[in-house]
Amino acid sequence: MGELFLVPTPIGNLGDMTYRAVATLKEVDLILAEDTRTSGKLLNHYQISTPMQAFHMHNEHKKLEEVGSKLTSGMSIALISDAGTPGISDPGFLLVREALSLNLKVTCLPGPTAMIPALVQSGLACDRFVFEGFLPPKKGRNKRMKKLSDENRTLVFYESPHKLLKTLTQFSEIFGPDRGVSVSRELSKMFEENFRGTLVEALNHFNTQSLKGEFVICVAGSQKK
Ligand code: SAM
Repeated sequence: MGELFLVPTPIGNLGDMTYRAVATLKEVDLILAEDTRTSGKLLNHYQISTPMQAFHMHNEHKKLEEVGSKLTSGMSIALISDAGTPGISDPGFLLVREALSLNLKVTCLPGPTAMIPALVQSGLACDRFVFEGFLPPKKGRNKRMKKLSDENRTLVFYESPHKLLKTLTQFSEIFGPDRGVSVSRELSKMFEENFRGTLVEALNHFNTQSLKGEFVICVAGSQKK
């Protein structure tokens, strides 16, 4: 019986690749990658020559059966995404479910993901938190935020640069301008920045600059009992 490995890859700093991740990617029979060109650079850097195939949101449904039969025939397969941990706002869940339904062994290696460093260095409570990933782009967006407004645990969101100001504005309207927030940009990269303050302060800060890079927003939980 084969085995499916979920292998986290760096979210910016190539040095964050673990020894075990490199060894696993060298040992498996096949690597499934979200973008073979992006991952090709990482594999070259670590001199990994394992065959690679594309597995992304546009073909994952179609590939499930094929990958399932490869695993059943005894192949070991690793799934990687462009950055971070597969399955976390990236393809992975459907394949894990498929492999488990075939009674195959599934192992996720511990490793890079953007939400954990953002949360832990935010200064907001990190003993309990809610990971929301990306908010819905349009339909259901307001409803989701309203649903979260009385949540007591710290909220963690992923956001793209072009929506950051819109999202902070909506958070300020719905959660209140004085709610605490931490915005992490370009984690582990040369221009990493962590802004900590209130929502209105974050808006003033990011309003005055050109917004590039990748962002994680951590919002303090509601104080309401
Ligand atoms: N699988 C990834 C993980 O484990 O974090 C997440 C992939 S998701 C498609 C990409 C989003 O993750 C970005 O839009 C951003 O919100 C966040 N992200 C990824 N890398 C980041 C970084 N270096 N700094 C800040 N946020 C990052």
